Amino acid sequence: MTTPSRVDRLSRRRFIQSSALAVGAGAGLLDSVRGASAAQPPAAVTTPGDGAKNLIFLVADGLAAGGPALLDQFGRYTGSGLSALTRLAMGAGVRRALQSTHAADAAVTDSAAASSAWSTGVKHISGQLCLSTDGRRLSPLLERARKAGKRTGCVTTTTITHATPAGWYASIDEREKESEIAGQLLEARLDVALGGGSRYFVDHLTQSRPALAVLRTQAALQAVGKEPVQPGQRVLGLFSEGHVPFAIERPANVPGLEEMSRFAVERLAALGGDGFVLQIEAGRVDHAAHRNDAAGYLRDLQEFDRTVAWVAEWVRSRQDTLLIITTDHATANPGLTFYGREGIDALRRLADARHSVDWILERAAGAATPAEGAERLAAAVKEAVGVTLDEYGRSALAAALGKQAADPFKERRAVECVVGSLMGNELGVGWVSRNHTSDHVELLALGVGHEAMPAFIDNIALHDWMTARLGLSAKAG
Ligand SMILES: [Zn+2]
Repeated sequence: MTTPSRVDRLSRRRFIQSSALAVGAGAGLLDSVRGASAAQPPAAVTTPGDGAKNLIFLVADGLAAGGPALLDQFGRYTGSGLSALTRLAMGAGVRRALQSTHAADAAVTDSAAASSAWSTGVKHISGQLCLSTDGRRLSPLLERARKAGKRTGCVTTTTITHATPAGWYASIDEREKESEIAGQLLEARLDVALGGGSRYFVDHLTQSRPALAVLRTQAALQAVGKEPVQPGQRVLGLFSEGHVPFAIERPANVPGLEEMSRFAVERLAALGGDGFVLQIEAGRVDHAAHRNDAAGYLRDLQEFDRTVAWVAEWVRSRQDTLLIITTDHATANPGLTFYGREGIDALRRLADARHSVDWILERAAGAATPAEGAERLAAAVKEAVGVTLDEYGRSALAAALGKQAADPFKERRAVECVVGSLMGNELGVGWVSRNHTSDHVELLALGVGHEAMPAFIDNIALHDWMTARLGLSAKAG
């Protein structure tokens, strides 16, 4: 660990100060947008507080604009057609916006700061959840929703204690403290919480909790889904020790995003009362992007898109729900890069891909030398995506494995990205880096109150906008 230099500390302070100005600017933007909405025809006006009873907030973590474009071109190739995301954006009854995502201390945000911005309306220090920049606890959005009589829920394909869901119910100084976050999740009394991460609950679930049904399998989820809903009973689904496996290689008996989302929406709606607030996250889209894993990315994004289609139809069948579909930041910004026939051949290879980069990396575990590891990786790449790496590719892998042997922690992700990049060369998908980016990101709003969504919104202003639609207190602390 190095101590930040004085220059670093000064520039960090300056960044936080300018973000504080941006908070003011965000409020100004929101005010001007509300003013603008008043000038629209009466049917388009939504008065704060008289709008949505329910909010469903759908997140594909790390979704850059190239993601839906990849889905659409893949759909053209396979004949499955345009993505639900694009069809929604093209249709009536939807507002499309761009969202800015910077953190209090960084131009490029992490998921903790971004999720907490939505949840509290305050810019955050990277890695922190629902804390002000001077360390005060801020009340997460689901806490305020519950106090207002609403039902609450989170669904994710990551651990349920990971940064993006946790930002909606927990307050803590380090996102990595997932066991503590698990304790906070139980205290937050969410009506439905579904995802992975059972390893973080071992110490918390030692005593029996009659009001909490803890589900570990798809069969248990389906059985509970068929039972009459008991208003007092909360559901915690932990379907994996860590993250839920990538869609491309997930066992058929592990529930995915679509199945968990349907369960959560239908259960929360059946509970009645003053409505509900539900966050749904396709969290592994971000993980695949970090690994520059085109095949893994595409399959998790397809699952997100199917979930979008189902949820949008559900929202449109009613008159009481607002749906937001967005992301917390872009990650690695994938793009199709091959011209002509070559690009079509690449889409065919992508369609035939069978495994994630993680699966490929596991095949090299235990290799005696970097050269042996590189040979194993090359064989695994061939099996996973049908690509034969040339001599250049094998030597790049051996070099990355050699660095990993010298410093296992620092270079581990470099091997992932060398594998991902080499495959990207054949799959026609280029990546800008292995990190998040500062890109403005897409947002779609539909359902009750969507007409008032401005064309551009910062992530903290989005909190204010949503709480106004729901009639919730905008004050997080
Ligand atoms: Zn990420």
